[in-house]
This record gives sequence, structure tokens and C-alpha cells, in this order.
Amino acid sequence: MNLGSWQLDTVDGGTFSIDGGVVYGVVPKTLWQNVNSPDEQNRLQFRNNCVLARDGNQTILIDTGYGGKHLALDRRFYEMDEGEPLLRSLDALGVGPDDIDLVVLSHLHFDHAGGATRNIPGRGLAPTFGRARHLVGWMEWEDALSGAPEIQSAYPQENLTPLLESANIELLQGDESIVPGLRARLTGGHTRGHLAFMFESDGQTALYLGDLCATTTHLHPMWNLSYDTFPLQTRTVKPKLLTEACDGQWWVLWTHDMKVAAGRLTRHPKRGFQVVEPQERL
Ligand SMILES: [Zn+2]
Repeated sequence: MNLGSWQLDTVDGGTFSIDGGVVYGVVPKTLWQNVNSPDEQNRLQFRNNCVLARDGNQTILIDTGYGGKHLALDRRFYEMDEGEPLLRSLDALGVGPDDIDLVVLSHLHFDHAGGATRNIPGRGLAPTFGRARHLVGWMEWEDALSGAPEIQSAYPQENLTPLLESANIELLQGDESIVPGLRARLTGGHTRGHLAFMFESDGQTALYLGDLCATTTHLHPMWNLSYDTFPLQTRTVKPKLLTEACDGQWWVLWTHDMKVAAGRLTRHPKRGFQVVEPQERL
């Protein structure tokens, strides 16, 4: 997709399966199974629709999928792709790991930050994108390294230690410009420091919502992930951002939707919003 001077491409951070109850929180299965049909083990599939953004000056990656470090047991449990799905997908676009200038992370859960580090033979764990600066919200970084027992299982330290040691992490304060035409928006909700990102160029806007609104089936204000640490914040901020996107005719980029990587919004009497102009890939 061309968005003014941005070339935006979907890059595949890997597909995985998770329990339907995790995907829809307090929403009864009798409702969600009408829009998303689970397998015999009650699982639903998620894609990791990471975004490669290029403007001729910088090559930027938004989120990194789950990477290739997982144990065979975890891979089976989550039905993960083999190897390094993100690197394969970047390679198909002619982009190598050292071509990435900036890695921007919405938050640090395994399916967003896992691909930022990998096992390199002879070197052990190291940043995947060795030349890149890595940007993440300061609250997310603080929480992920806090060791707080109520959240620490969400932050495998093998994803973070190589970034900490390589000292190429830069912390975002919240709502701020990252580079011209790319802004961070602090949303909270999914995690305390969760960020959304806005691309803007030539009067056009695209909004990457991260896990604030993980799929097109999460447009309803009350449908949110069980992983949300502040669900009431999600239910407050999500409709506000979706209203901005709908009124501004922005593209919305969907982090985990299996079929829709981007779409625009119109209002819907029951669900709040619905997707129009769905695009399977950017
Ligand atoms: Zn996620």
C-alpha cells in the first residue's frame, strides 16, 4: 500500500492458535462463535501482521511476531510456524535483517517482541536486527523487566535481555513523533504502556492499533482480549480511536486478523463500527 510517501507492506510474523476464551474475554462463546468458528479444541487462529514501512529514508518495522526461539512443546501448543517466519517474509521483499533501521514495538508480549531476538550460532541470543534502534514505551519496558509476579509470565526474559545488553533500546514517553510521518499514541489498556502508531503523509492516515483492537471482530467496544491488564481502559480508549479513524477515513491496520490486514471503517448500529474496503495484505 502506498500512503503518500510511505510504502507500507504486511510482513508475516507467524500464525498461531489460541483458546477462544482468551480471544474474547467475557463475551459468551454462544456469541463469538457466530463470527469466528473455533477448532475441536476451542482454538482460533491469529496471524501476526507486522508492518514494514519505507519512505526512501528509513526502513522501519512495526512489531516482530514471535520469532524462532520457542521450544518444540510451545510450538506444538500454539501451532506456531517453523523457523523464523518474519525473516522469511522480509526476505521475500528483498529486505535483510541489517536493512532495518528502526524496530518499533507496540508492547513486549511474546507475539510482538519475540522476533526481535534470535539464537545466532556461535553467538547465542542476540538482537535479530543488529543495526536497528529499538523503540518501546517506557512503561512497557519498566513493567516487562519488573519481575512483578502477576505479569512476569507474559514477558519471557530471553526476548528482552539481548536488547537490554546491546543497549540499542530507546524509550518512548507516550504521544510523540518517532520520525516525520510516524507518531506513537499511548493507549494503555492491553498493557499499561501499550502504544498504537499513526502513519501520516499527504493527507492520508493509517492507524496500527496493536492489541487494543486485535482483529476486525474486536470492533465492538466490549469485545476485548482476556490478556488485557486494564480492560476498562481498552473499552474507553478503543472506541475513541476507532471514532477518529472512522471520521477521518483512515486506514486501520489489523495486528492479528487472519483475513484483513487493513480496512477503513463505517458505523454499525450494533457493533459500533464495521470494516469496508478490506485488504488481505498491505
Ligand atoms: Zn498480540
